[in-house]
Amino acid sequence: MKYQRSSALFTEAEKYIPGGVNSPVRAFKSVGGTPVFIEKAKGAYLYDADGNRLIDYIASWGPMILGHAHEPVIRAVTGKAEKGTSFGMPTETETEIARLAVSMVPNIDKIRFVNSGTEACMSAVRLARGYTGREKIIKFAGCYHGHSDAFLIQAGSGAVTFGSPNSPGVTRGTAQDTLLAGYNDLEGVKALFEANKNEIAAVIIEPVAGNMGCILPEEGFLQGLRALCDDSGALLIFDEVMTGFRLARGGAQELFNIQADIVTFGKVIGGGLPVGAFAARNEIMNHLAPLGPVYQAGTLSGNPLAMSAGLAMLSELNDRPEIFKSLEEKTLYLHKGISRVLTRHDIPHRINRLGSMISVHFTDEEVKDFGSAATGNNDRFKKFFHGMLNEGIHLPPSAFESWFLNDALSYDDLDLTINAVEKTAISL
Ligand code: PMP
Repeated sequence: MKYQRSSALFTEAEKYIPGGVNSPVRAFKSVGGTPVFIEKAKGAYLYDADGNRLIDYIASWGPMILGHAHEPVIRAVTGKAEKGTSFGMPTETETEIARLAVSMVPNIDKIRFVNSGTEACMSAVRLARGYTGREKIIKFAGCYHGHSDAFLIQAGSGAVTFGSPNSPGVTRGTAQDTLLAGYNDLEGVKALFEANKNEIAAVIIEPVAGNMGCILPEEGFLQGLRALCDDSGALLIFDEVMTGFRLARGGAQELFNIQADIVTFGKVIGGGLPVGAFAARNEIMNHLAPLGPVYQAGTLSGNPLAMSAGLAMLSELNDRPEIFKSLEEKTLYLHKGISRVLTRHDIPHRINRLGSMISVHFTDEEVKDFGSAATGNNDRFKKFFHGMLNEGIHLPPSAFESWFLNDALSYDDLDLTINAVEKTAISL
């Protein structure tokens, strides 16, 4: 496939936008080449500026679980837009989506909507600090919780793709309050709690990590974190920006049967519009302004277009929970197909998968944390990525990202993808 016009559009964009993109991971820096410019999308497909049709495994980095331009979502948004796009005053739709989200997710009484996953995680940490009166947090190497200062300490996603997991501009004071542990390393977390008695406000974690590829929590790891938090009075924050409304109706809390104290959302919850949210039991949420002293606000938070898109999305997931099972089956089919091909070609690989999240790592090692994810052969990933793109399959342009499957993908699309792996594998 040819990407000439995309390439020209990128050259023009670079003149006016830093790196030509509004979010770094889009820039293809870790795989080389220039990004594909999208004109429109429908169902499982992207249509680009050169007229190519691509099968999409990015799904806008997660939100598009029902496929692109899904009719009920589009109808909800266009219907609302005609009535005004923002009021900065309450609307009934906010209560409708809040009520629905609270009914779908275990262990939460109230939810507050914001405009991004970053905002959701940043606000969740402030709330945890305000609630506990403590300042330190524990995060895990390779987990990404948005680009707020406190999280850019050994962060995953674009931060690691570009080799700057500790960003200039983050103050030493801020960095000191973020303690780092290894994913799946419960002993390491225990040691941090012991060394920082009564100082830790919260442990924040992606219950299934998606920002260093897809990495699963080992048996007992999340339960161990829950117990450590309980023993020390710290809050457990599940960052469900990726996993929420994707791995199950009630997200990772439901899937693993573990209760977090604060849960953050983004991506699916907004139906593809800019939405994030954080939620908890009343006892914690009532500390937020205007009820309590912990301040948090937003001019466009609860925006009517965003809320109606999210409501249409969550309503469908609530009404058709079988989607989660069918997505899991498709992902398993893809996993088996890719693994079969790579094995036949003697290409060392590990595939991690849960629900509709999956990632392919070109390594012999079990991939269970940031260190093992980094053992992946990046040159091979680059060739793989471009080989697949040439066959019309758009994967995330970094080995440190999870792929996301959507409900519109057919088994024919999956077979096309596996055939593309077959063609690509020869040159890996
Ligand atoms: N948390 C997680 C787990 C994420 O994957 C992301 C974004 N990829 C964020 C937080 C930040 O969300 P946003 O990009 O909407 O700010």
